[in-house]
Parts: sequence; structure tokens; C-alpha cells
Amino acid sequence: MFGRAPKKSDNTKYYEILGVPKSASQDDLKKAYRKAAIKNHPDKGGDPEKFKELAQAYEVLSDPEKREIYDQYGEDALKEGMGGGGAHVDPFDIFSSFFGPSFGGGGGSSRGRRQRRGEDVVHPLKVSLEDLYNGTSKKLSLSRSVICLKCKGKGSKSGASMRCPGCQGSGMKVTIRQLGPSMIQQMQTACNECKGTGESINEKDRCPGCKGEKVVQEKKVLEVHVEKGMQHNQKITFPGEADEAPDTVTGDIVFVLQQKDHSKFKRKGDDLFYEHTLSLTEALCGFQFVLTHLDNRQLLIKSNPGEVVKPDQFKAINDEGMPMYQRPFMKGKLYIHFTVEFPDSLAPEQCKALEAVLPPKPTSKLTDMEIDECEETTMHDVNNIEEEMRRKQAQAAQEAYEEDDEMPGGAQRVQCAQQ
Ligand SMILES: [Zn+2]
Ligand SMILES: [Zn+2]
Repeated sequence: MFGRAPKKSDNTKYYEILGVPKSASQDDLKKAYRKAAIKNHPDKGGDPEKFKELAQAYEVLSDPEKREIYDQYGEDALKEGMGGGGAHVDPFDIFSSFFGPSFGGGGGSSRGRRQRRGEDVVHPLKVSLEDLYNGTSKKLSLSRSVICLKCKGKGSKSGASMRCPGCQGSGMKVTIRQLGPSMIQQMQTACNECKGTGESINEKDRCPGCKGEKVVQEKKVLEVHVEKGMQHNQKITFPGEADEAPDTVTGDIVFVLQQKDHSKFKRKGDDLFYEHTLSLTEALCGFQFVLTHLDNRQLLIKSNPGEVVKPDQFKAINDEGMPMYQRPFMKGKLYIHFTVEFPDSLAPEQCKALEAVLPPKPTSKLTDMEIDECEETTMHDVNNIEEEMRRKQAQAAQEAYEEDDEMPGGAQRVQCAQQ
């Protein structure tokens, strides 16, 4: 029955935990559990482990079927065979079935019963790179459901509610659909009359504050502190600030930072990248310019005397990148990427003037005769080499695919002929 030969295992532990003999009746078990559970309830300073053990033992022994398995094969058999042997028991649920949910810690202890957890509410929050560099705080006004104070979330003046006639209090409705002559589909959906709560409130008894809805809408202003160095997609959580609902642990409001693109700077981790274009003259003969940083400081950027900056070159300034999150005095690097703008053409006298100052051209070792023997060529411009290479690769792949397609058919024909 359990996949392996029943072994003699411990089948007295649960009785010992409850302090009853093996012959104990259901009544004896109940009394023993009740007494021990009150004494060991964690809200009254009891040991949570002991409390859990009690619930586990009681859960098994109070179920005649489980008790029989336990008596014969022990605890392991229950774990293997029945699934519900103990690991998945909520001790507070079992306790509540005796004493109701109100026992325990002062005023609505969330441990006294297993509560539904409300959904988290997630909002994207757009921030600029300046916000993330300098830190900022944003006030956001949100509308949320809160438990109606007038009726304390009961929905009625008297505090009473009836079982929903639509679902007999279960909160669920089962609908059966005929899919075919011998096929039906059974679907369980939340009851629409009570919105899945299982209860309904007499119209005359409805709370005037919330019209029986149990919650009312409230405007709330949250101040979100965006700290220096926070990242794109980083979450800022306000625990328990989402919509309230009766018998529900309120979820969190979560803001997810969305960094807007910046016109000048790009960010990679703690580093910043800045694009700057130099004229050919600046690249060759030196330059200086003012870079306005994200906190409006003016940085003077200049080349060293005699230095030549090449196209596509990067230079870096230490400690001018992004501040590091929670260590804002540490900063990444600021990389400057240089593009050099070359003139499209030069006049002959400009060439002459340049040749006079620039290093001489490599001298040709070929004689005029040898050059005459070479073939003439024409070069054309390639505007985008990556694009051109991509196109060629796609074309090659397509051709290889078509060839592949022909191969297996041919091979098969040979094989058939041999058989
Ligand atoms: Zn209902
Ligand atoms: Zn109300």
C-alpha cells in the first residue's frame, strides 16, 4: 500500500505528546489537546515547537482513518502515503477550530488564524537620471480601500451577516457545462452575489458608511524617497499600505523605479557615459569644453598639451560617475567617448599646407613603369558595414538551408533502392 514493506516504526510518539494512553477515546484526545494547547500557545508565552507538535499529533489521532494507519505503521507511513501526515498542518488552524479566531494576542492577532494575504499593488515610478544622481523625494497621492470604521469591516449596522443564499455560504459556485455527448466540464467560480465572501447582509442592516461593502476609499499621500545611486527597476516598498479587506493581511505598495533616458548621459551600473564630438582641428591641436554634470556643476574638460585624440577614443574621469547606492560618497567613473568630425574634402592648397606640417607620406618604392602594369580599380563608399555583413550572413544561411532540404530526400531514395 505504501510502496515498501511496512516496517515497525514508532507509533506511540503522538500519544505521548498528548499525554494519553493508546486506548484514549476521541473525547479524551480532545480534552488532552485543549488543555495542552492553551498552556503551550505561543501568544501566551508557550513554545511554538511544542504547540506545533500538539497540533500535529491531534490532527492525526482525531482522524480515525489516519489514526489506524499511524497505529499500524507509524508516522512515516502517513507522510509517505497520505500526504497529510503532519508536515502541512497549520497548528493555528487546528487551534482556531477549538477556540475560534479571537483567542490569543491582543486584538486581531494575525497569527490566530490563517489569513488571506492581499495583493501587492505595483506602480512604476518614472525618475530622471538627475533624480538618481542627487536623490529626491516624490509625494504621490493614491486612492486605496480601507476597512470601514463605522462597521469595523462587518458591512452591517448590527454586525450580523447571513449566509449568502446564492452559494450557501461557500463563496463558490459550481457550474456544469456540457461539452459533448459524454463530456461535461465542471467549473468553480467565485459567487457573484457575495463576491466570494459567502455572506450577505440584510438590506436594512447595511452599514451606511460603506453601503455594506465593508471598505471605503481613502486618499493617501505617500512620500517616496529616491536615494542616491538607486538603479533602474529597483523597488521601494511600503509594507501593508495596499488595499485593505476584512480578514486579510494587507499587501504592500511597491514602486518600481523607471529611469528615463537622458539626452547627454548614459548609465551603466555606477558609471556614466558621455558623448562628445571634436572637430579634426580640436582632435589634433587640443580642445577644452565645459561639461554640465547631473548636479549642475560645471566641469572643465581639456586635452593635455600636444595630445592627439583619435576617433572613437574613450577617456575616463574617476569619481565623476554615479554615486553608489547606500555609499553615496563612493562614485563610479565618467567615461567620455570622442567622435572626431573629419572634413568631407580638402582643396589642393589645403592639402599642400597640411603636407608641409604633417609627417611625410610613405614614399612609393614602385617605379612608374611598375605602376603602369597594375590594374586600375574604383572604390565606392560603404555606409554601414555591419548592415552589409548581416545581409550576407542571412543570405548564406538561407542557401545552406535550401541545400540541407535536398539532402535527406536523396539519401532516402538510395536506401529504398537497396532494400
Ligand atoms: Zn455567495
Ligand atoms: Zn461600514
